[in-house]
Amino acid sequence: MGAVKKVFIVGGGIGGLTVAHALQRIGVSTRVIEMGDKRDRIGTGITLLGNALRALAELGLVDACLEGGLGWDTVSVRDGAGTILSEQSSPRIWDADRPAALGLMRPRLGQILEDFATKSGAKIDFNTTITRIDQDDRGVTVQLSNGETDRADLLIAADGVYSKIRQSIFGDEFKPHYAGQGVWRYTVSRTEAMNGFVLYRLPTGRVVGALPLSKELCYLFFLESTDEKLRIPQDRVCDYLRNLLAPFTAPELVAAAKVIGEDKHISYRPFDVLMMPAPWHRGRVVLLGDAAHSLMPQMTSGGGMAIEDALVLAQELNRNDDLETALKTYCRRREERVGRVYDIAYAICREERKPEHGRDYSMGLLREGYAFLAAPV
Ligand SMILES: Cc1cc2nc3c(=O)[nH]c(=O)nc-3n(C[C@H](O)[C@H](O)[C@H](O)COP(=O)(O)OP(=O)(O)OC[C@H]3O[C@@H](n4cnc5c(N)ncnc54)[C@H](O)[C@@H]3O)c2cc1C
Repeated sequence: MGAVKKVFIVGGGIGGLTVAHALQRIGVSTRVIEMGDKRDRIGTGITLLGNALRALAELGLVDACLEGGLGWDTVSVRDGAGTILSEQSSPRIWDADRPAALGLMRPRLGQILEDFATKSGAKIDFNTTITRIDQDDRGVTVQLSNGETDRADLLIAADGVYSKIRQSIFGDEFKPHYAGQGVWRYTVSRTEAMNGFVLYRLPTGRVVGALPLSKELCYLFFLESTDEKLRIPQDRVCDYLRNLLAPFTAPELVAAAKVIGEDKHISYRPFDVLMMPAPWHRGRVVLLGDAAHSLMPQMTSGGGMAIEDALVLAQELNRNDDLETALKTYCRRREERVGRVYDIAYAICREERKPEHGRDYSMGLLREGYAFLAAPV
């Protein structure tokens, strides 16, 4: 039978579109309400680790994702000149014959998830949001910004780290906080050296990372630890980035510095993080993905956690006839796992902000995190 027949999903990001597809597959009708325009999908790249690929495989999505990006297996640390200091293989946890992890452009991933959700029957309203939510014992009624009113059995808030629904349902108690670090990102041509997750580290602790996205492209990121969020005027961004890259002499990074300013989309994103304690539901509204937990990106796992949330929530809604039981079990299965990944990512960030341990400490944490993620969901 299952706990629900019709579900609203607010937010058509990674979590929202994945859960729409997952629910449609088990016969639940879904309506996704996304405030953005699909043509506005931007962003550099994203890495999906083996646990995310395993969840996508269970949902029949992994082949399309692998075709849309570039798989990789190794994590290496290089010095500023590009000399390899250490290299390790990531475990192939979901299929011994396929890559441990995948990099792809975010707009590409968004399009794949949208195509699958739509094909499996989800209705998606772009440029639309929710203006009012009323819930009672039998359902939840929403008013949409386009003037429509609609009713369903459950509302899933997948509206990201600054979730308005979290605020309206749970109040101001659970808010993201700035973690003292942010990241600059832009896309460059990929070289052979960038064949996996590569971290270029200076003795000062400064780090530049490279993640492959396709045969031709990879994205570079620069972590910046600052007590306050950075505010660099737009006309100074290129010089600022060139200065950040200047101490790195690896040929691929020298080449990357040269293309700054060539019509590149350069983004800065401060890390606003949140790990909300369960329950993530109240009545007929439940949080999913960044709305409930927004992680530091050091474990490249926030999107993977949203995908796992989607899989587990659909499983529990299918397995249980009682909605409260389904939602409680979803929270129980997710809170501890996400919390551990959040803690490991935060510990890596702390070490980057104020290095206190040896060079291998962060790699050790990363290894610990990967081993933990390999455990079944
Ligand atoms: C710098 C950086 C790098 C990262 N790298 C990785 C990585 O390599 N791998 C990884 O797995 N994760 C990574 N993450 C994390 C990942 O991006 C997020 O965890 C993931 O996007 C969360 O998905 P989501 O669907 O929960 O939220 P989002 O992707 O934020 O989607 C929320 C959606 O809701 C919509 N929305 C918001 N409010 C409303 C509203 N009121 N009404 C209607 N729609 C609304 C938004 O427009 C958006 O489309 C990174 C994060 C950062 C900041």
